[in-house]
Amino acid sequence: ARQAGLAAATGPGATSDGRPVPLLANIGGPRDLAAALEHGAEGVGLYRTEFLFLDRASAPGEEEQEAAYQEVLDAFPGGRVVVRTLDAGADKPLAFLPPQAEEPNPALGERGIRLSRAHPEIMNVQLAALARAASRSSARLQVMAPMVATAEEAAWFAAACAEAGLPSAGVMVEVPSAALRAADLAAVVDFLSLGTNDLAQYAFAADRQLGALTALHDPWQPGLLDLVALAVEGAGEHGTPCGVCGEAAADPALACVLVGLGVASLSMSAPALPAVRAVLSRHSREQCVLAARAARAAASATEARTAARAHLPGLA
Ligand code: PEP
Ligand code: MG
Repeated sequence: ARQAGLAAATGPGATSDGRPVPLLANIGGPRDLAAALEHGAEGVGLYRTEFLFLDRASAPGEEEQEAAYQEVLDAFPGGRVVVRTLDAGADKPLAFLPPQAEEPNPALGERGIRLSRAHPEIMNVQLAALARAASRSSARLQVMAPMVATAEEAAWFAAACAEAGLPSAGVMVEVPSAALRAADLAAVVDFLSLGTNDLAQYAFAADRQLGALTALHDPWQPGLLDLVALAVEGAGEHGTPCGVCGEAAADPALACVLVGLGVASLSMSAPALPAVRAVLSRHSREQCVLAARAARAAASATEARTAARAHLPGLA
C-alpha cells in the first residue's frame, strides 16, 4: 500500500482497486497552467474564462480569446480541457455590460447562462474562438455553461455549441433545480459538472461570500450530498458522466465520498491534487461507497465527516 501511495504521488487518479478517477485542475487562465502541470493534473476540469472579461471597457475579441484558449489546450496534448463560458454577473460584474435593471439580489439575477441568452453575440464570439483553438490542438475540448437551471437552457446551449462546430457540450449543476432534474439535462448534453460552491449557496439560501454562514456552506452537509447523489443518478439514466468541479473535491475524505456517490471525475485548485490523489489510491471503490452511505445517513455535517472517516482508514 505504501508503494502504491508513492506511485500515486503523480500519475492518473484511481482508487486502490484500479477504478480511474480523472483528477483535473480548476484554472482562471494560462497563468495557472504551471501549477496544474506541476501538481500532475490530467487536464483542466474548469477553466473560469470570466477573468478575460472582467475589469475592461469592452469584451475581448475573438483573436485575443483564441490565443488564451490555445495556450491552455496546448498544455494538455491528448488530455481533456473543460472550458466554461462566461460566468459574469452577481459577484463578477462586467464593466462593459452593466445589468439592464437594478438587481436587488444579484446572486439570483441575470448571471451566467442567463446573461449569455440576453447577449448571445458575446457567447458566440467565445464559442467561435474556442472552436478555432480546438481545431489546432490535440486536446479534447469540452465546453460547459454556468448557472443552468432548466433542461431548456441546457438544450439551447448544446444547440449553440453544435452550431459553432464544438464536439462536446455540457452544463454545470450548481442550481438545485438542475440537480433535481439532472436526467432531463443529461438527455440533451454530453456531460454534467457539479459546482458545489454555488450548489451549497443556493440549496441552503446562504450567500457564499458571507463568512458568518460558513457552517451552511459546509460541503459535508448531508443535504448537499443528497443533491450530488440525485445529480449523479439522473445523469446515469442517460449514461452521461457527472463530475465535480467545486472546491468540495479538494478535501481528500470528501473526494472519496464523492467517488462513492458515483462522480466521474474531480476538478480542484491544483495544490490540492497530490493529497487527493494519494488518499484515493489508498481506498477501494467499495470503501468509498460505504463512506458515502455513512455520510448521507448522518444528521449533520460534523457527523457526516466522522461517519465517513470510519470507512477511510488510509486518511492521514
Ligand atoms: C461552483 O459554483 O462550485 C463553481 C465551481 O464555480 P464558481 O466557484 O466559479 O462559481
Ligand atoms: Mg459557480
